[in-house]
Amino acid sequence: MKAGVIAVQGDVSEHADAIRRAAAAHDEEAEVVEIRDSGIVPECDVLLMPGGESTTISRLIHREGIAPEIRDHVEAGKPVLATCAGLIVLSTDAKDDRVDTLGLIDVTVDRNAFGRQKESFEAPLDVEGLDEPFHAVFIRAPLIDEVGDDVDVLATVEDRPVLVEQGPVLGSSFHPELTDDSRIHDLAFFAEPEVEA
Ligand code: GLN
Repeated sequence: MKAGVIAVQGDVSEHADAIRRAAAAHDEEAEVVEIRDSGIVPECDVLLMPGGESTTISRLIHREGIAPEIRDHVEAGKPVLATCAGLIVLSTDAKDDRVDTLGLIDVTVDRNAFGRQKESFEAPLDVEGLDEPFHAVFIRAPLIDEVGDDVDVLATVEDRPVLVEQGPVLGSSFHPELTDDSRIHDLAFFAEPEVEA
């Protein structure tokens, strides 16, 4: 499996490790490539949009011509895991003109909405599809405040969605790469598609 991590800004190596661990658990090997230019996304089976600063990520992926390739990837039904700022960039609306959102997951987000005191926090999360809670690390996390009809909410904190799924896109407002637990990467890239009964 070839996994591309959008590396224009933000945490890349932790995600690369998590993808490799998730792949190994399925007796697969993941070749992880860092993406800073156009032309590489089309070769990738799965994509990861890391956190960072959504204004910067948005500007760079548009400037480098990576944005339309991400759109094609999702339209082809190939998996994407978008975390934190990555989720903001993939959303429908970030209520901030500096973020040119891709509209690939139908949620409206509020950047930095958790406020200063709750800027960073950790919480055990019950996640649909996981047997045990996932220890989630939130860092200046976006708040998801509107969710479209085609979006499934897989986890919440205080009744607010923090893990959402639409088609091949899984988006988290927390940072699943910051623990040794690669179950969110596993959900994004290796979960068996649900078979209708
Ligand atoms: N607050 C950042 C933004 O708005 C996201 C923070 C993060 O990715 N940890 O882009």
